[in-house]
Amino acid sequence: MTSTPTADATIVVRNPANDSVVGSVADTSSAAVAEVIASLRAHQPHWESLGPTGRSKVLFALQDWILDNARQLADVVQSESGKVRAEAELEVTAWVDLISYWGRKAEKFLADEHPAPHSPLGRIKKLTTWYRPYSVVGVITPWNYPLAMGAMDIVPALMAGAAVLHKPSEVTPLSAVEIARGWAEVGAPPVFTVVTGGASAGAAVVEEVDFLQFTGSTPTGRIIARRRAETFKPYSLELGGKDPAIVLADADLDRAAHGIAWGALLNAGQTCVSIERVYVEAPVYDAFIAKLTEQVESLRVGRDDREFRYDVGALANQQQLEIVSRHVDEAVAAGARVLTGGKPTGIGTFFEPTVLVDVDHSMSCIREETFGPTIPVIEVADEDEAVLLANDSEYGLSASIWTGDRKRGHRVARRLDAGAVNINDSIANVFNFVLPMGGWKQSGIGSRWGGAAGIRKYCRQQALTEPAVLTIPREVYWFPYSKGKSGFAFTLVRGLGARGRRRLG
Ligand code: ADP
Repeated sequence: MTSTPTADATIVVRNPANDSVVGSVADTSSAAVAEVIASLRAHQPHWESLGPTGRSKVLFALQDWILDNARQLADVVQSESGKVRAEAELEVTAWVDLISYWGRKAEKFLADEHPAPHSPLGRIKKLTTWYRPYSVVGVITPWNYPLAMGAMDIVPALMAGAAVLHKPSEVTPLSAVEIARGWAEVGAPPVFTVVTGGASAGAAVVEEVDFLQFTGSTPTGRIIARRRAETFKPYSLELGGKDPAIVLADADLDRAAHGIAWGALLNAGQTCVSIERVYVEAPVYDAFIAKLTEQVESLRVGRDDREFRYDVGALANQQQLEIVSRHVDEAVAAGARVLTGGKPTGIGTFFEPTVLVDVDHSMSCIREETFGPTIPVIEVADEDEAVLLANDSEYGLSASIWTGDRKRGHRVARRLDAGAVNINDSIANVFNFVLPMGGWKQSGIGSRWGGAAGIRKYCRQQALTEPAVLTIPREVYWFPYSKGKSGFAFTLVRGLGARGRRRLG
């Protein structure tokens, strides 16, 4: 099924775990994308007028539908991504949790406010700010979380009162199409839909929507930012990452080995906030890599359908397999050693979970985003060297610090150039919608979530003034001007704000 009115061509979707064809979708033309957006725009005012409570009823109906169809949704995620069952089900959980949060909190976050005037002179006015949504929000997502990634932005944007158009990756469009089906089945208003297609459909979304939320690669983000800048239209970008983990000598090494293995290999390493580099203080380096290697060796790799038999699934496509293989091969050619893994399994796009040592900062496995199941580890002399190397990257999405000393953890965290830091855990910030999730440096612009900020970003704040109590015939600052009125105003402002003898003139 597609939810687009016209289709120029078809995109075939494959399961990367075994290369079977699992579906096809339309490669929507630019003209059709524009038509869809016009329709969304026409229906949005009614959606806005429902208010947060009215909109949350619709979102909770969708949540019911998702819960009723959870197994089948996870099946679709697996069919197009080749990920393991536990990780496919996590994506369904994300939709449920996001609707619970934004559905319940939107009213509070979007409530009108009456800020106090900055000066007693302002008390002649009653001041109000309120939030008015953008008409149409576009959400463009990559292939790594086919179901959950959209939810991260679609849910708060809809709760803000915007109409939303989702353009999923052409590699994994089927899960998004399922959500559009659910939206229609619960009888929700036509203010949310999905257009399928590749870069040209994405570019049409970029062209037309009033606010754009993009998650994907840094090069595509750059193209999009240029285009949005030309039309003065707002956007927010969540881009690539090369997240460092720092293991300090006082860390609990068992916890660090388990946590880093998970943070690096979750979703076969295809998570923007996954750990891609590890720096370990010299005194614990040998002990740490022994534990890490043991942990990584114990992981089960394969295709498990509904059975929860494996830990690490397939890579999303052949291109990704080639990038991961290249990073490992180039590192080995330059003198790195593979402690475990190091090559494709030979089935589908599976790649063995890999620990690399003797790597340095000139290697592609350290400089470029790998997005695969590899863990390059570097020994450092001390905290200072760890910070220096961790910050030596064009990216700055998130980082983790492993230490037994909370104060030391804070001290190191404040020196890291990254949008989020997890102490003794990885990726944990993403499970907390009250925290902002934003990349520094080349990892993005703006952020998602962050409590109230996460829904207000889909709104414009409108400011209102009105007479506080009395409406006097004329404001003193209106025409006609006079020396007396100017002098009076100046004396008041000076008397209220200046210091010492200057108060009196
Ligand atoms: P990835 O290869 O990691 O998915 P991309 O940045 O290429 O990263 O793609 C992310 C999303 O951006 C996908 O949905 C893709 O179709 C879309 N996309 C690719 N090129 C463009 C473009 N020029 N304009 C808008 N969207 C695009």
